[in-house]
Amino acid sequence: MERETVSRNFIEQIIDTDLAEGKYETICTRFPPEPNGYLHIGHAKSILLNYGIAKKYGGRFNLRFDDTNPTKEKTEFVDSILADVKWLGADFEDRLFFASNYFEQMYEAAVKLIKKGKAFVCDLSAEEIREYRGTLTEPGKESPYRNRSVEENLALFENMKNGMYEDGAKVLRAKIDMASPNINMRDPVIYRVAHMTHHNTGDTWCIYPMYDFAHPIEDAIEGVTHSICTLEFEDHRPLYDWVVREVGYEHPPKQIEFAKLYLTNVVTGKRYIKKLVEQGIVDGWDDPRLVTIAALKRRGFTPESIQMFVDLCGISKSQSSVDYAMLEYCIREDLKLKRPRMMAVLDPVKLVIDNYPENEMEYLDVEMNLENPELGMRKVPFGRELYIDREDFMENPPKKYFRLFPENEVRLMGAYFVKCVGFEKDADGNVTEIHCTYDPETKCGTGFTGRKVKGTIHWVAAVTAIRATVRLYENIIDESKGVYNEDGSLNLNPSSLTVLNNCLLEPAFVDAKLIEKPSHSVPAAQTGADASAAPETDCYARAYDSFQFVRQGYFCVDAKDSRPDALVFNRIVSLKSSFRLPKPE
Ligand code: ATP
Ligand code: MG
Repeated sequence: MERETVSRNFIEQIIDTDLAEGKYETICTRFPPEPNGYLHIGHAKSILLNYGIAKKYGGRFNLRFDDTNPTKEKTEFVDSILADVKWLGADFEDRLFFASNYFEQMYEAAVKLIKKGKAFVCDLSAEEIREYRGTLTEPGKESPYRNRSVEENLALFENMKNGMYEDGAKVLRAKIDMASPNINMRDPVIYRVAHMTHHNTGDTWCIYPMYDFAHPIEDAIEGVTHSICTLEFEDHRPLYDWVVREVGYEHPPKQIEFAKLYLTNVVTGKRYIKKLVEQGIVDGWDDPRLVTIAALKRRGFTPESIQMFVDLCGISKSQSSVDYAMLEYCIREDLKLKRPRMMAVLDPVKLVIDNYPENEMEYLDVEMNLENPELGMRKVPFGRELYIDREDFMENPPKKYFRLFPENEVRLMGAYFVKCVGFEKDADGNVTEIHCTYDPETKCGTGFTGRKVKGTIHWVAAVTAIRATVRLYENIIDESKGVYNEDGSLNLNPSSLTVLNNCLLEPAFVDAKLIEKPSHSVPAAQTGADASAAPETDCYARAYDSFQFVRQGYFCVDAKDSRPDALVFNRIVSLKSSFRLPKPE
């Protein structure tokens, strides 16, 4: 796909101007996650945007944990975020930082503001501060503590630091303008007392900086030039600029806002995902029905497909929502030529070829991927007893049903023409066995042109078939009702997960010996942290490997639940759309 664009997005235009004016010599961006949950597709956009810009301008990209708030941080989240950023390919080299390592500098910056008469210790309660703040239409009221002397403020702030006050008893506020039309500028709180243990600094501190004060300092310390964030911070930008100016950084960073990425009818909020995890509705933050990065990876999405998606979305200043179908489009495009196409029967029914010799097998040569010869060939065993998908046979077919039915002839994919000569049913009327005859003349690849058939169906040989579990997914949200109920809870789709336990796959999925390795090697499998579903020599399918199951979609070996002798596949995406075509075609 052609994705190279000549025109630059608005962020790049700003950077071009800054470079032309000599404001900065090199570019530095950062991704600053708060370690309070797993990253999702929206964060992926931010990561790839920041990393992409740094790369494009030959600059630096930092990963910085914004861990100034001691309440929520968890090592589990730090670890998952690190893994996700690396998996996406956003290389931060040796520039992994923690905002909590800057507490000392932040404290000194606050002292500097006090000395300049730009900050004061305030004894108002949180509620009083809110009352004094005013509204969008009315100016605020100055705190009675606003005019304390520099000496008094220095002493009180030091007392705050030394643990002499209880939580909430005193705060440090910037002294800006209580009449500012921008409420963020009305003497915002920049430090609070909180007797809490921090995951990194332990009990060293009992005062913690507020986000709006801490963030610009973190950026400035690291030499970030363009601090890219989402739109909700637009009104905070004057405060950001005030902090870097008043603290006196020589090369102040610049904040630029862009619109968050939203997916229509898809849950991204940490709050909601956390609830689904805690209530056991999903099997963890990486449940393949979610759009956390861990879940997308487990579902079988690739970093390349996510990059393509982010590129297609573009960067904008106005809020909008993108269809999940676009993400599906990207993964199909990415896997189309890269991955082998195999036959898998999801709902098997037996097919017996009455005129094929008993106890005999032949090995058919079949292309791994018709559209990409570089993937080479594989051997597919064929014999008298096969399995086909139940929906590929009908006793009484409607018009335009070209698959198998009594007296009809179809092609078995990569093999022979077979004609249905009979079938058996059980007491409940379910078809249990289909009987066919085959025509040896019609073998695929021999150039047979004697006659034509309208249908081609897939199959697997009974003797060599591998049993596997296949999971099909729908949106976890019931799209017909919208995402949220009136009480704010999620509208869940009760059939978002279908587990098929009795699927049969051709043995090439697991037996490497059956695969004739092409001269150009098969593209490196996407291996993840847990690539141990089976050792490479014995088993072809490893965790995160993906395949096309012909006519069914793309599937990925589940990294959590697969065992070498019991593979579990997640359907990444169907071939055409997420909707199943109404049967019959
Ligand atoms: P959420 O509330 O969705 O869990 P967050 O904003 O609380 O996300 P942070 O860890 O604070 O998560 O965000 C890290 C970075 O990711 C920030 O720069 C933020 O602007 C960006 N970000 C968060 N959500 C999105 C999104 N939907 N699209 C693009 N960028 C996002
Ligand atoms: Mg946040």
